[in-house]
Amino acid sequence: MTKNIKTFCVKADPTPNILYPISSPRTYDCIISGMGCAGLSLAVHMIRSGAFTEKKILLIDREEKTLNDRTWCFWETGKGLFEDVVCKKWEKVWFHANGYSDLKNLSPYAYKMIRGKDYYKYCLDIIQAHPNIEILYADIQRIGNSGSNAFVEAGGMMYSAAYVFNSILFHPPVISPKKHHLLQHFKGWIIETKDDRFKTNEATLMDFRPSQEHGTTFVYVMPFSPRRALVEYTLFSPELLQDDGYDEGLKNYIEQQLGISEYVVHEQEFGVIPMTNHRFQERDGRIIHMGTAGGQTKPSSGFTFRFIQKQSARIVQSFLQHGHPFDLKVVGKQRFDWYDSVLLNILSNQTLDGWFVFRQLFKNNHPCRILKFLDNETGIIEEMKLMYSLPQWPFMKAGFRELYT
Ligand SMILES: Cc1cc2nc3c(=O)[nH]c(=O)nc-3n(C[C@H](O)[C@H](O)[C@H](O)COP(=O)(O)OP(=O)(O)OC[C@H]3O[C@@H](n4cnc5c(N)ncnc54)[C@H](O)[C@@H]3O)c2cc1C
Repeated sequence: MTKNIKTFCVKADPTPNILYPISSPRTYDCIISGMGCAGLSLAVHMIRSGAFTEKKILLIDREEKTLNDRTWCFWETGKGLFEDVVCKKWEKVWFHANGYSDLKNLSPYAYKMIRGKDYYKYCLDIIQAHPNIEILYADIQRIGNSGSNAFVEAGGMMYSAAYVFNSILFHPPVISPKKHHLLQHFKGWIIETKDDRFKTNEATLMDFRPSQEHGTTFVYVMPFSPRRALVEYTLFSPELLQDDGYDEGLKNYIEQQLGISEYVVHEQEFGVIPMTNHRFQERDGRIIHMGTAGGQTKPSSGFTFRFIQKQSARIVQSFLQHGHPFDLKVVGKQRFDWYDSVLLNILSNQTLDGWFVFRQLFKNNHPCRILKFLDNETGIIEEMKLMYSLPQWPFMKAGFRELYT
């Protein structure tokens, strides 16, 4: 932690036994509860807008993030706010499924990768240059509304603010049996080979050729150099595998599909992302829920990074226009929620195989139309073209069921 930031460390607090009662907590304009992807994104969006220099902002997380705990992949056109930490991008990606393989040109989109560790450091460096922003490392016990403010209880102390932006899921959501709930679970290895094996300008977005016995299964391959790549084995299914199931999937893919027998595993990551049409609450009084806790994970794909960026931008835009962060509506949201529910219905009920649905989409549509759709940014005509490329009767039945349940 550098000097120009005011940091409170709970253990080192000179008055650790003084609890601030709710009537006299330390007061801020905004508190950002959780300094992961969403919390740091919001802080950087606020700073970049230039409109918060006079505001007292407090960021709280239970731990300082120094490890590369995740890698974010996403697509966008042009340069984004976090372009400086994009470690690699690809404009050409392979799609593979039984009976169909094609190298897709994504331009004007690029598929980009950001390493978690770089993102955390980049955001913290920016935040640390702003003395109006404080950071507290402490466990957050609860958040709530109190009168005309919201509060956060962290490390036994009370903090109050006009608005709290929270990305902590304090309790797993109670999902109604009427809602779908799959898991996107994955294990990735960064491997290094002895000789040149990868084309660095061609990634594999989805390869559905591995066995589908455990559910919808695909692998993606992101090469950093001719000898180094991230290979990620991913499933959409209700249950996790045993740990060796992911290792076996990765080994089989590297040997059988990539034809590589000698390699070293340098890093690994494992993750589980909820795929559910449960409606996460975005606002509770003066609390705005963000990130995964605020429903920013796309139910049918698990992609979250871009939706987090868009939510941060909406919050800042709302502040600029109205002086409060509550104008968060997204045009067409209900329509895209319904599309997500329909696809989850098909996958959960196994009406069609996941690999087959994605193959039809990629075989019959320009990839940019698919990426735009997955970003919830298409118009009705483009959506009709996408629907037309899929088996219509099963989708119509699932569509009706989702309208009336
Ligand atoms: C391994 C992995 C890879 C992923 N890859 C992608 C990808 O490629 N593309 C994509 O779009 N999405 C991806 N995701 C999904 C999503 O983008 C990430 O999960 C993202 O980090 C979500 O951001 P968040 O801020 O909502 O949650 P987090 O980043 O998890 O942040 C929550 C923060 O809250 C803190 N916290 C939790 N409880 C407490 C507490 N009680 N007190 C204080 N602090 C607390 C945590 O320390 C953490 O810093 C991935 C997820 C994982 C797990």
